Amino acid sequence: MHVILYDEGTCAALRVAELAEELARVAGVEVEARGEFVRHWATAPGKDACATTARAGGRTHGSAPTTVEGLAKALARARVVDPMSRLQPEREPTAVEIAAEQRVLDTPGRAAVGILYDGAVAQWWMGEWMEGAEEGECHILLTARLLGTFMPDDHRWHAHTVLLGEPALISTTGLVQAPARPREYYQGQGLATTGLMPREVVEAELQQRLADRMLLPDDPRINAAALGCALQAIAFHVTGEAFCEEPTCRLYNARRQEELIRSQCSEDAGLCERHDALFRGLREGRRG
Ligand SMILES: [Zn+2]
Repeated sequence: MHVILYDEGTCAALRVAELAEELARVAGVEVEARGEFVRHWATAPGKDACATTARAGGRTHGSAPTTVEGLAKALARARVVDPMSRLQPEREPTAVEIAAEQRVLDTPGRAAVGILYDGAVAQWWMGEWMEGAEEGECHILLTARLLGTFMPDDHRWHAHTVLLGEPALISTTGLVQAPARPREYYQGQGLATTGLMPREVVEAELQQRLADRMLLPDDPRINAAALGCALQAIAFHVTGEAFCEEPTCRLYNARRQEELIRSQCSEDAGLCERHDALFRGLREGRRG
C-alpha cells in the first residue's frame, strides 16, 4: 500500500521525514513525502498553468479547479464567515478573501491564520485538485488550516484534528485548538476578562502551568499527534471504519487535550489489540 504525505511547511514542530519513517515502520506501508500539495498537483495533466480563471461550476460544489486561482476561489468559498450558522453555498467570496487565499497558495510556508473552513467543502476541493491520482493510494495532507463542521444540535462549529477521507486532512492548528483544554485553562482565562492582568500575561502563565496537559503552538509533541492522525487516516482508507473506542489506542478520537496527549504522546500511547492486528496485517502484506 502506498501512502503519500504532503505538507505546507507551515508548522515548525512537524518533522515530516521522521513522521514518514515512523509511519512506514508502524503501519508497514510504503510512505512517500511529496512536499507541498497544491504545487505538486498544479503541474498534473489537466491543469492549465497559463489560464487565470477556473472553469464554471457544475457538480456538488462546482467543477474541478484547473488553476491555483480557481482553487483559491473555491477555498475562499469554504471560509466560515458566520460562526452561528452553516455555510451558505451561494455566497460569493469577496475579492479580498480570494486574494488572501491565493497569497497562501502561492507562498510556500505561509499559513491561513485565524480562519475556520468548512472541513468537508475544503476536503472536497482538495480532492478535486488532485484529479488523476491513482486508485488505492492514500493521500494525507498536513495543513495549518483550521477545519470544522457545523453541528445543528448546538448551532456551533466544531474544529477537527483530522478529516478522514480522500485526501485525509490533518490540521496542525486543530491539534492545538480543537480538543478542549483542561478546565483550569478556561477558569484561568476568566482572570484576563477582569482586567486585573494583561491577557498575554495570563495566557503565557496558563500555557506554562498546563503545558504537560495540552499541546501548544509549535509543540514538538505535534509530530507524535500527527502520526496518530495519519494512522487513523490509513485505517479508514483500508477498512472504512473511523477511529477506535479504546482511550489509549492511537486511533482514539480525542475530544480533550488530556485524552489526545494520553493516546498519542504518553507512555500509554500505542495500538489496541484489534488495530495492532490491522497494521500487522499490512506489514505482513495480508491487507492493503
Ligand atoms: Zn484501536
